Amino acid sequence: MDCPQCNVEMQELSGDDTVITRCPDCECLWTDVAELNRILLHNNLPGLETMGGKPNADAATGPCPIDNIDMIAVEGGHKHSLSFETCEVCGGVWVEAEGEVVTLKDAVAEIVGFFKYFRNHAA
Ligand SMILES: [Zn+2]
Ligand SMILES: [Zn+2]
Repeated sequence: MDCPQCNVEMQELSGDDTVITRCPDCECLWTDVAELNRILLHNNLPGLETMGGKPNADAATGPCPIDNIDMIAVEGGHKHSLSFETCEVCGGVWVEAEGEVVTLKDAVAEIVGFFKYFRNHAA
């Protein structure tokens, strides 16, 4: 699976029944929706569908690495300063990591941190 932004092969971080895919170039993280919801619920956050956020049809997005169709940007957080991209077909979610991601634990922490902030400020 290639990164939609960089076209480089992404790496799978896996363990404990969880798989998150990361791009070694841009540090973006990819997860399917079932996986994401499991991570969110496990960390006392609501599922993605109740996370709020506002789709921005005008935002430039990359193609879904699985379906190869353009993803949709969803904005949230303080003054809509955060956004993730999601695929309408497979429901996969694409999030930019803030810090360095080496292990699966790092990736989970990034995703949980992102959605915590995303949700707290969602209008
Ligand atoms: Zn990338
Ligand atoms: Zn897709």
